[in-house]
Amino acid sequence: MNATLESARRSGTVDVNGVAYEAVMGIECHVELKTETKMFCGCRNVFGAEPNTNVCPVCLGMPGALPVPNRRAIELLVEAGLAFGAEIPAFSKFDRKNYFYPDMPKDYQISQFDTPLTQGGVVPFWRPDGTHGSCRLTRIHLEEDTGKSTHASRDGRIAGSTHSLVDFNRAGVPLMECVGEPDIRTGAEAVAYLESLKRTFVVLGVSDVKMEEGSLRCDVNLSLRPVGATEYGTKAEIKNMNSFNSVARAIESEIERQAEILRAGGRIVQETRGWDESTGTTHSMRNKEQAHDYRYFPDPDLTPIEFAPDDVARLRAALGTLPQARLDRMIGTEKLSIVQAHNIVDKPGLAEYYDAVVAAGCKPQPAVNLVLGDLSRLANETGIPVHRSQLRPSRLAELVAAVDAGTITSKTQKMLVERFYKSDTPAVPIDDLQVTPYAEPFAKPEKSLAQIVKEEGLGQVSDTGAIDAIVAAVVAGNEKTVADYRGGKVKVMGFLVGQVMKQSGGKANPALAEARLRAMLGEPEGAA
Ligand SMILES: [Zn+2]
Repeated sequence: MNATLESARRSGTVDVNGVAYEAVMGIECHVELKTETKMFCGCRNVFGAEPNTNVCPVCLGMPGALPVPNRRAIELLVEAGLAFGAEIPAFSKFDRKNYFYPDMPKDYQISQFDTPLTQGGVVPFWRPDGTHGSCRLTRIHLEEDTGKSTHASRDGRIAGSTHSLVDFNRAGVPLMECVGEPDIRTGAEAVAYLESLKRTFVVLGVSDVKMEEGSLRCDVNLSLRPVGATEYGTKAEIKNMNSFNSVARAIESEIERQAEILRAGGRIVQETRGWDESTGTTHSMRNKEQAHDYRYFPDPDLTPIEFAPDDVARLRAALGTLPQARLDRMIGTEKLSIVQAHNIVDKPGLAEYYDAVVAAGCKPQPAVNLVLGDLSRLANETGIPVHRSQLRPSRLAELVAAVDAGTITSKTQKMLVERFYKSDTPAVPIDDLQVTPYAEPFAKPEKSLAQIVKEEGLGQVSDTGAIDAIVAAVVAGNEKTVADYRGGKVKVMGFLVGQVMKQSGGKANPALAEARLRAMLGEPEGAA
């Protein structure tokens, strides 16, 4: 990586012949909505079906076929807007956007022009460096997706292909377009913004947001200008990124390309550029000097949409705990790391579980450590998701409190966590992406932790006499290690404490075990 690129990645500025330039980016995202059926007909909305099996006269654009709007799609889009504080205008309508596209059967797309379903709003995010940022939304509007062409050439491009195949399964799938204001300055911010959109849409059930399946597609408009300038430079639009990682790489590559042109005294051309994953560069796709004339006009087949305040209130009330609110609480109030907070919040089941553990009185940090550590490991080993395990959040909080109070050791805690997690009492199934408050899976009362610890003799041993007996046995059985310690190799103390813990069945108080070992072995050589 060269110095300019390094600087762009760090601070968002690049050097152009001694002048610091900043990148200005606005991102447009197309997100397929997760509805049962398409936007204007009853065809199934599923990914990966046999080509042209989910089609009908409406989505094939047959003459005389009439569209009927999908109420659920409209509600999902409004929920998405409300999650980011957007305004929901009382009046909205669909327009026809006229252009020729080989995989768009009607030769126009039903979209929205001057009256989108939502206006404004702000997408907040946490940057990887721990600072908080945000990007304003211009609007979110609803439209229909097009079909999909596959070109029969080696690289999948139309140039050089002998023929093309078209699949209309995607034609008419509800698509929301989120238009962002030019508030983004770096590749890392772009990714943080996209992740914030994604985690919100997943929790709301608006979309599955899979870039690899095309249910999230984004275009980045990028221009450079001297730091402090208020006017925008000429922008290029970058397309065809298929992962968040490629979005960041495409941005870095495009910043460098534009900076090179400016350094050489050249002029940026307004155009659309495609990202090529294999070369790590963008290439010109088409010139955008002339704006298209789409001849928008209200679709005469569709009545306008009028939102009653009650409808908006109902949808707002159903939003539940939004990921951003949870992140703000975890990072801001609970002082957890950005990485840990995102790792929890990006799995809604884990997030609900974590909240329930904290609500049961556990401190946030030990709760996060256990949920992301032992519990996630057990989830992988057993195939039982954390929020479906038999380990109740309240019991986990109890186990943490017992270690804090010195009633049990952390080794005993680990053993009990495993046992409760895998207990064979049937769990109440909870959806992976459930957003209702965590429900305790047990119907019948269980033994208290105190009772289990007492009955099974699991309490921490802090009795000096009992520990001394084990320490003596360990010293006698590890002559060489003991000699090493006395000779000044103090690091072996950890091993000896481990032996005492092992012989006590994990129940010895580790601090006391170490103190008794030190007392019995005396000062090592070379100690001050
Ligand atoms: Zn259809």
